[in-house]
Amino acid sequence: MSSPDTSRPTSHAFTTTPPRRIVVKLGTGVLTSSVGELNGQRIGAICAQIAGLRTRGTEVIVVTSGAIGLGMGRLGLSKRPRELAKKQACAAIGQSLLMQTWQRGFDPCKLTIAQVLLTHDDLRIRSRYLAVKATLGQLLADGVVPVINENDTVSAAEIKFGDNDTLSAMVASLTQAQYLVILSLAPGLIDLRGTGQIVPVVEKITPEIEAMAGGTKSETAVGGMASKVSAAKLATKSGCGVFIASGAEPEVLNKLFSGRSPGTFFAPSGLPMESRKRWLAWFQRPTGTIVVNAGAVRALREGGKSLLAVGVTRATGGFAAGDIVNVACPDDAVFARGVAAFAEDEISRIAGQSTDELRALFPGRKHLEVIHRDNLVLL
Ligand code: GLU
Repeated sequence: MSSPDTSRPTSHAFTTTPPRRIVVKLGTGVLTSSVGELNGQRIGAICAQIAGLRTRGTEVIVVTSGAIGLGMGRLGLSKRPRELAKKQACAAIGQSLLMQTWQRGFDPCKLTIAQVLLTHDDLRIRSRYLAVKATLGQLLADGVVPVINENDTVSAAEIKFGDNDTLSAMVASLTQAQYLVILSLAPGLIDLRGTGQIVPVVEKITPEIEAMAGGTKSETAVGGMASKVSAAKLATKSGCGVFIASGAEPEVLNKLFSGRSPGTFFAPSGLPMESRKRWLAWFQRPTGTIVVNAGAVRALREGGKSLLAVGVTRATGGFAAGDIVNVACPDDAVFARGVAAFAEDEISRIAGQSTDELRALFPGRKHLEVIHRDNLVLL
């Protein structure tokens, strides 16, 4: 149950209250420009955005790939080795180069980093799990950015996380992060069978969603979209929201945390109303706009009311019932967002009508609000 009067300021506060803790995972493809060569400029830009998030009060944990890829570069290998020992040797060579690069990236922002290397056993065995949790907590409290990778040199095949997507989801769950951001060269989850477009929001990871994800063809990376979606499944179950977006997108972190999601957002499962409203406001792509009169602007803004047809002047965008829409003032300035209970053509027909008139038009229909207040958030 929710009370709009108490929930509204909290959801609205998301505009000024950044998330408390996030995990950012970067794939080898994002960190390197070609096999074995680091993309220092991109890493620097990511570090600057992480520093910005820290300044605004968000604790950030980095999960980085790239050690094996960098080691391959040093050894002049262009194909990922098959033998475990060779991969582990590459990781041992690349890991220190990787950390140097991260520290160089954070130096201009005056941030200290800490290397944390984990194996599956470190999270499976409770005493180690608790030690990792305590250490990460301490590092964050000291204003340090933990930079985590799998301890590839000691991870035998059968005890491996397998890929850093899974590792990042486990870290997000362990540290109770609010969001996990998985950055790779993939722009998001693409609906290959349907629209061919990025799926902006996944409310629930169904078999259909899993079928959209394929593996990777890269020589240096592992995982691909399938491991990202399975990581998202793990993290969302722990109440963590997950973004999959392109690390090559300029200002990607700033965009995500100011509500302009360029990729796919996976909503945490079992969302309390507040979080639901938050992602309604920030992680959805509205398909249309409902313009309302001055009275309705006041009722929504100050009274915490639902939007009724009587306050609507027009609708645009060809949206269907259940779509996310913007709500705009008479001068077209958008001030709220919500789930439309009627399609655009219906709203155009009922605009300005009283609830009594609507009752006659839709006999037997219980809810006649155009947007119920539980599905509405002020921006
Ligand atoms: N731990 C591996 C590395 O640093 C990467 C694994 C992954 O990309 O998922 O190279």
